[in-house]
Amino acid sequence: MKNNNKFLYCAGLTILWFFSAFSYASNQVQSIRIWPSPDNTRVVLDLSAAPQYKSFSLDSPDRLVIDLSNIAGGGALPKIDGESQLIKAIRSSGDNNSMRIVLDLTSKVKPTVFSLTPTAPYGHRLVIDLPDKQRTESRPPPSIRAARDIIIAIDAGHGGEDPGSIGPSGIFEKNLTLPIANRLAELINKEPGMRAVMVRTGDYFIHVNRRTEVARGQQADLLVSIHADAFTSPQPKGASVWVLSLRRATTEVGRMLEQTERHSELLGGVAEIIRDSANERYLAQTVLDLSMNHSMVTAYQAANQVLAELGKITSLHQAKPQAASLGVLKSPDIPSILVEVGFISNPKEEKQLKSASHQARLAQSLHRALKRHFELAPPADSLFAQQRAREHKVQAGESLSLLAQRYDVSVDALRSHNQLANDSIRIGQVLRIP
Ligand SMILES: [Zn+2]
Repeated sequence: MKNNNKFLYCAGLTILWFFSAFSYASNQVQSIRIWPSPDNTRVVLDLSAAPQYKSFSLDSPDRLVIDLSNIAGGGALPKIDGESQLIKAIRSSGDNNSMRIVLDLTSKVKPTVFSLTPTAPYGHRLVIDLPDKQRTESRPPPSIRAARDIIIAIDAGHGGEDPGSIGPSGIFEKNLTLPIANRLAELINKEPGMRAVMVRTGDYFIHVNRRTEVARGQQADLLVSIHADAFTSPQPKGASVWVLSLRRATTEVGRMLEQTERHSELLGGVAEIIRDSANERYLAQTVLDLSMNHSMVTAYQAANQVLAELGKITSLHQAKPQAASLGVLKSPDIPSILVEVGFISNPKEEKQLKSASHQARLAQSLHRALKRHFELAPPADSLFAQQRAREHKVQAGESLSLLAQRYDVSVDALRSHNQLANDSIRIGQVLRIP
C-alpha cells in the first residue's frame, strides 16, 4: 500500500511536470528585431503568446536582464535582425519553462520594457526601448545670418513597429511615406533659401509627440506630415490635406483618421504616452494660446497651396483643407499640415502610390506648393523675404524693356519670372525682379 501510494505520488508529479513543461510553456520567442533610430533603440521580441516577464538592470558592466516564464525553447535565441551601437551582445540561458535574456549594453541607459498585443502584421511582442544617452532635444539655433533658410520639417508617417495602413496587395503605408518624404527633402534642399529636416530617416518607430519635438528642435517654419489614407471600402480615392481642428472631425473619413492615427500612437508608444502626460497638460494649456491661431492660419494657407498643386496630378478626395484633431498637428507653435497623398485602400491608387514615378510627381507638387506658399508669405528674416523685396510696382509711362534696363535683367527673364504672356504691363501691377 505504502509503495503504491509513493508510486501514485511520483506519477502525479511526473504528470504535473509533464504539463508544466509541455502545455504551459507553449509560448516561444520567434524572432528578435533591433530597430535603431537616431535617439532610441527598440528591441522587439516576437512571441507566439502574450509574454510573462520581469526585467531589471545591472551595472558594471551595464546589462538589462529579461526573465521570461512559461517559455519553451530551452533558452535558445532565435535569429536576431538588426544591430545597434547601444547593444554589445544578446545572450540567453534557460530550461524547458523559462528563459533569461541578457542585453550587454555599451552604456548606462534607462530601459522601458512593455508588451504589445497583436496588430497586423505583427503578433504578440515584448518591446524594450533603450533611449540614447543624449537625446538631441534641440540643436543650437542656426548662426545669425542676413537671410536665413526657411526650414521645412518633413515627417514620413509611421515607421518601424507601426506599419500604418496596409493596402490590398500588402504594401505598408510606412514604406510609401518615406520615399516621398526623401524626394521632397531632396528638392527642397536644392532650393536656395529652403532647407529640409527629416523627422524620420529610416524604418523605426517615433512617437507622434517626438515628431513635433524634432520639428521644434530644428526651429521649423512648417511641419509636413506625409501619409496615405485608408478606408473600410475600396472606393474612396484622392488626396486630401488636414490641418488642426480644436473640435472633433465632422466627416466619416475624418473621424476614422483620428481613430487610426491615435491607434498608431498606441501601437508602439505605450511607454511614451505614460511618460508624456506632463507634455499633454502643457498642450492643453497652450492650445488656447494666440500663437496657435497664427500657426493654424499659416497651416491653412499652406494646405490650400498643396491642394492646388496636388489637384494637377491626382484626384482630390476633398478640395478644401480638412480639419481634424490629430496628434502630429497639435504642435501649438509650429504650423503643421498632414498630407494624405491618396488612398492605399483603393487598389488603383495603391498601385499608383507604389510607383517611383508617381512618388516623384507627388514630391514635386509638394515642393512647388511649399515654395509658392513661402514666396507669398515669407518669414521676415528669411532669404525669401529678401528676394521678395525685389519687386516693382509699375508706374505710368514704364514699359517692360525700360524696367529690364533699370534692373539690369533681360526682358525675357522679367517676362518668364512673372509668367507674362506678352510684354504689356499695367499701372499698379507688381512685378518680381529676378
Ligand atoms: Zn497614416
